[in-house]
Amino acid sequence: MDVVRRAIPTETSAPDGTTNAYVLGRDPALLIDPAGCPEDLDELVERHGVEHIAVTHAHPDHVGAVARYAAHIDRPVTCWAATGHEDRFEDATGVAPDATFTDGDRLSLGGGTVRIVALPGHAPDHVGFAVTDDGPAFCGDCVVRDGSVVVGGDGANMRDYLHSLDRLAALDPPTMLPGHGPPIEDPLAAVDRLRSHRERRERRVKDAVDRGAETPDEILAVAYEKDLADVRALARDTVIAHLEKLDADGELSWDGARATPT
Ligand SMILES: [Zn+2]
Repeated sequence: MDVVRRAIPTETSAPDGTTNAYVLGRDPALLIDPAGCPEDLDELVERHGVEHIAVTHAHPDHVGAVARYAAHIDRPVTCWAATGHEDRFEDATGVAPDATFTDGDRLSLGGGTVRIVALPGHAPDHVGFAVTDDGPAFCGDCVVRDGSVVVGGDGANMRDYLHSLDRLAALDPPTMLPGHGPPIEDPLAAVDRLRSHRERRERRVKDAVDRGAETPDEILAVAYEKDLADVRALARDTVIAHLEKLDADGELSWDGARATPT
């Protein structure tokens, strides 16, 4: 199946300041994460015959040109949202979805089929797209090749996120194509790296609480050694996501403001 990537400059916390849009298949094709509408994406959309538009999740840095393409493509277009998250999709894109998909659904494109894989955690509506019969998997903000992924704030859930990493590992695609940054040629290694990063961070959060830190800021001061500067709010949200998971696991008690050892 044809797969083309365009890195689009966006307002994003991703280090290179771009979000990847992808066009899959041809006549009909699927457009994933149209974060903006540079001319070369317009041209691809036209040439590949896009008839489906979807996002991996409705964060603002993934949806910028959904409305434009939904309105301006010169053939009938279906805008897809994840079932149960239609309002979230509409709030973010300004477009009411024409149809919804759910985990396991398949979409037929020219040149192959993609399967929808629910990957909540980074966002509650997050999905991936797996090209069937051993094709690449589009993993959105679940995995990046370098650095780490934000799991905190706005409906994020650390337990779900770790489960989504397990699902991607079980899928074992030959390549993963992320929402930010370059293709991931060794998906299992990338998933392992992010899982270990989370486990390490979780242990540090728990240790900080065991040693008397109670609030997210106190925990941040102990569990994150580096200078956080402009990522402080994101780091704080991530600490809270870890606390929620540790509380759900019975490892400590977290009341939404203070954590205490159990
Ligand atoms: Zn995101």
